[in-house]
Amino acid sequence: MVASVPDRIRDNIDSIRARIARAAARAGTGADKIELIAVTKFQPIESMYAAVECGIAILGENRVQERADKASRWDGRSAAWHMIGRLQRNKARKAVGLFDCIQSIDGFELAVAIERIIQERTKSEDGAARGYPVMVEVNTSGEETKGGVAPRDCADLVERIAGDCPHLTVEGLMTIGPLAGGDSETRASFALLRSLADVARKRTGLGIPHLSMGMSGDFEAAVEEGGTMVRIGTGIFGARHI
Ligand SMILES: *Cc1c(COP(=O)(O)O)cnc(C)c1O
Repeated sequence: MVASVPDRIRDNIDSIRARIARAAARAGTGADKIELIAVTKFQPIESMYAAVECGIAILGENRVQERADKASRWDGRSAAWHMIGRLQRNKARKAVGLFDCIQSIDGFELAVAIERIIQERTKSEDGAARGYPVMVEVNTSGEETKGGVAPRDCADLVERIAGDCPHLTVEGLMTIGPLAGGDSETRASFALLRSLADVARKRTGLGIPHLSMGMSGDFEAAVEEGGTMVRIGTGIFGARHI
């Protein structure tokens, strides 16, 4: 008998959670320290409901328009949404309205654009909202197709955001592991992100609690190298429906 879609998604999530737990144990940490983000780009909304039913609390999307389309059909069940794709400044306002965190900050101008939007909203809502969560994306592999700041610019960017964007909170750093290369390149990329977070913490005194790294093909290495958020798409849902 062929498993129904929700059953298949449940099985996939169970097995990924078990693999995360084993990787966390190898890293000397607990599975409860690792957030499993379901990456739902090009996945139907019914599959997303199935993931939320399995206790997935954060959904990742990489395009503002797709998130907007899904938001208009979403049935109201509770989930947080993180933006994980490249964000153009002219879409910042729309993105802030649709996402609970933007993981793909790749420059100071984008951060400032978001800061201004949050500033306006804070005024109009008449309250001292806590900082809007953002993460700085770093191109740790140096591959040209990748978004993110160069590793050498990471600490400066975090410092400038901390200094000039009081309505933002830098929750972490994010990276995409190398698309080409073997296990050692992958690990080097994740280890680099971890060390960049250490540098940025020392420089700013911020907590910067999260390292968002690891996808379907490399999340165990990411957890072993200190990742606290893994972003899994195909490993949960199967092939994307493009
Ligand atoms: C698509 C995507 C993922 C998930 O990739 P899978 O290989 O399907 O797990 C993770 N992070 C980002 C930034 C993505 O764009």
